Amino acid sequence: MFENFESDAVRIQTERTAQREHSTPLFMTSSFIFDDAEQARALFADEIQGNIYTRFSNPNNDELVEKLCRLEKTEDGLATASGMAAVFISMFALLKTGDHVLASRSVFGSTHQVLTQIFPRFNIDHTYADIGKVEEWENGVKPNTKIVFIETPSNPALDIIDLKWIGEFCKKRNLILIVDNCFCTPYIQRPSEWGADLVVHSGTKFLDGQGRVIAGAVLGRKDLMKEIRFIARATGPSLSPMNSWIISKSLETLAIRMERHSENATKLAEYLEKHPEIEFVRYPFLKSHPQYELAKKQMKLGGGVVSFVVKGGLDRGRKFLDALKWFSLTANLGDSRTTATHPASTTHSKLKEEERVVVGILPGLIRVSVGLEHIDDIIAEVDQALLGSK
Ligand SMILES: *Cc1c(COP(=O)(O)O)cnc(C)c1O
Repeated sequence: MFENFESDAVRIQTERTAQREHSTPLFMTSSFIFDDAEQARALFADEIQGNIYTRFSNPNNDELVEKLCRLEKTEDGLATASGMAAVFISMFALLKTGDHVLASRSVFGSTHQVLTQIFPRFNIDHTYADIGKVEEWENGVKPNTKIVFIETPSNPALDIIDLKWIGEFCKKRNLILIVDNCFCTPYIQRPSEWGADLVVHSGTKFLDGQGRVIAGAVLGRKDLMKEIRFIARATGPSLSPMNSWIISKSLETLAIRMERHSENATKLAEYLEKHPEIEFVRYPFLKSHPQYELAKKQMKLGGGVVSFVVKGGLDRGRKFLDALKWFSLTANLGDSRTTATHPASTTHSKLKEEERVVVGILPGLIRVSVGLEHIDDIIAEVDQALLGSK
């Protein structure tokens, strides 16, 4: 529709009904009416396009998907009941027994469980490669490798994969590249422009951005989406129209929210870097980040997540969390409210200690998802907790 992200995010909207509403209404209906027997037949035969049943399609889901496709610059898409439904179906729909997945080592905890505990039941194998080690990627490709699955920046260590490099790597070897883009959102990073075949999202995070719903999406190449849609329609991980409606509304403010999340996160990271009680800080747009140049190349902003280690290791890290007065202690991220977690004992507790260290999750690491409160209040909160945890 428009050349600019913000205008698409605001203006893409379900066709107005006879009620002349300005804002998209909620289409809370499980099914849709056929004009006559012939139309019903033609719809089921796929000869004409139209709504039949909300597990297949719904105007609110279609609006959300159309918007996300425009923002991610992808051909096609599907809204799913959660981010994990999107992660799972994006791979499951394209794999068969005997196939192999190559993945970046630091994937989301539940994605790790899919790869290590669920896929093996179907004799689908995987290999992990470390972000910085080219030889692990090259040696990781087997004759039966079908998919490369990555997250960048990684959670919570914020390591960055070169999207251009991995895009070319996959193209040369005819592998399907899937990128989980939930940390960045399409406002900050568009993997399809670097060669990703599919992009998956947890809508639960920054897309909603207000901590209200669980949702997800798979976006990408039309031929792959056809297969994914077939499996989704039959197995039912469809998103509720209510949640589609909420997220589509949230996308209207995505650009300004990501700007402010990133501005606040940058200021917090800069403050922490100078603080004598801090061992180190990780943030993609800090000059001290080992991949600062790469971050600048493929990301528009640094994003809303800052990770750091407080001097004094695990004990101090936990004391720091307990000394926080109003940051929310919750595993979620991408909320208007600042949240703080201790990954080693929560989101990444399923990993073994040595597996955690390999992906940069030191025992004392704290991850903060910086919210939209005033930056002075955010810094004052961290400051008093650093003092209080001494
Ligand atoms: C949260 C998250 C998911 C899973 O999303 P849900 O909506 O919780 O199912 C997947 N990937 C990443 C990177 C996440 O942060």
